[in-house]
Amino acid sequence: MMHYLNYIDGQWCDAERSLTVMNPGTAEPFATIAQASIADADRAMAAARRCVNEGVLSGVRPAVRTGWMLKAAAAIREMVDEGGLVACRENGKSLQDAKDEFLESARYFEYYAGMADKLEGTSIPLGKDYVDFTQYVPFGVSVQIVPWNFPVSICARSLAPALAAGNAVVIKSPEISPLAMTLLVKAIEKAGFPQGAINLMCGKGSEVGSHLVQHPEVDQIVFTGSVPTGQRILKDAAQRATPSVMELGGKSAAIVLNDAVLGTLLKSVQTGIFFNAGQVCSAMSRLLVQKERYEEVKAAVVALAEGLSIGQGESQSDITPLVSKDQQSRVLAMIEQARMEGATILTGGYAPELSGYFVAPTVIEATPDMQIAQEEVFGPVLVITSFETEKEAVDIANGTDFGLVAGVFGENLNQTLRVAQQLRGGQVFINEWFAGGIETPFGGVGLSGFGREKGQEAIYSYVHTRNIAIRL
Ligand code: NAD
Repeated sequence: MMHYLNYIDGQWCDAERSLTVMNPGTAEPFATIAQASIADADRAMAAARRCVNEGVLSGVRPAVRTGWMLKAAAAIREMVDEGGLVACRENGKSLQDAKDEFLESARYFEYYAGMADKLEGTSIPLGKDYVDFTQYVPFGVSVQIVPWNFPVSICARSLAPALAAGNAVVIKSPEISPLAMTLLVKAIEKAGFPQGAINLMCGKGSEVGSHLVQHPEVDQIVFTGSVPTGQRILKDAAQRATPSVMELGGKSAAIVLNDAVLGTLLKSVQTGIFFNAGQVCSAMSRLLVQKERYEEVKAAVVALAEGLSIGQGESQSDITPLVSKDQQSRVLAMIEQARMEGATILTGGYAPELSGYFVAPTVIEATPDMQIAQEEVFGPVLVITSFETEKEAVDIANGTDFGLVAGVFGENLNQTLRVAQQLRGGQVFINEWFAGGIETPFGGVGLSGFGREKGQEAIYSYVHTRNIAIRL
């Protein structure tokens, strides 16, 4: 078995303890990784602080950072095949989706490379006796906590704008699926960023993660993960009033209006809820269908789910395994709870007899108040519900504690836009789930969190504004 290392202050280092990473497709151990200690976390924070104090990132001409970012992007592109295979085997996701994580990561570096030298302040007129202007100042040391579902691309999503803006970064990878992230950083290492600018460690969230977010040297926290962990970290962040970005969970609904085109909808259902076995924060986990089309859409969605192939990531099947046995048990338990509450399991709802941690694609007819329609499942489970009026649809869609993504399907642009503007969420899709990409701002409201990632807006999550007023 391969053994992977942490990257601290420009060195690849081992640790006394290690964590075993499973292959969810075979339920067998795949590799081990050094488990960082508190002392490792302290060394990483010290290295990042040194970079900040010496001004080796924020003090150089921004075009220098652009150069490093572009070199990093090129090196990430060269890592697509090797890194993709590791991501596929440690995470269970399809090989193509795993490679896409690296391609997307390269895009983040290219995109934010172009913004490093465009963080321009403004000049504010205060009359003839003053000159006043603003500057965008990097926070300093950015601690970034990454989840397991898209570890590589989520890592790059926060790392690229942080570096472009001139921050030093300490990253905590997830205990599950941390390996491909080390290959991402191996590629970025070739770009020549100053020593200590990027640090990566794997360790327990409750130990090393918790230590990092409470560290006296932390200037900013970027957390992507579950609501309970986000709430915990927010309490810790409150001690030092540390600015934070919180990218949390979702229970996103798509509203299907009477004039929706079935083919368009079904394509989005497939990617919306069955992509990555539904382990996507922005998954289309609820489908709200107008009464007149309900039976037709329900039958089509069930047929779609039943036609999907199930298999390991390398087999390029439609439904790949869940990331762990725990995750599989959690999802099956939530389906069972739905059954007990009176929901109808239209298809799926079981673990296929395969060696990995699979759950069959599942469609459940449920009412909006049931747990399965309110809580994030994080599996290939779609809840379908009917509605009569536009208002009722909006109320159901907005009727959870989350507010990440929402969608509307229909041919009348006036109506879809009217509905879209009433939906609670940071991103609303009309007639295609997952439209847009790294260029479009992403983030939530309510329990889905706050702050924005992606797009031009995200870079402003990594700086604060300093106003300078000069009395002439
Ligand atoms: P999780 O909250 O269990 O873990 C996320 C990370 O937090 C891991 O690295 C973990 O080690 C770390 N952690 C745990 N306790 C910590 C603590 N006390 N202090 C600091 N760090 C700690 O989440 P997960 O199961 O890895 O990911 C799934 C969740 O992430 C889902 O809820 C999903 O919706 C959400 N998610 C959100 C987005 C988004 O952009 N909004 C993207 C992907 C995933």
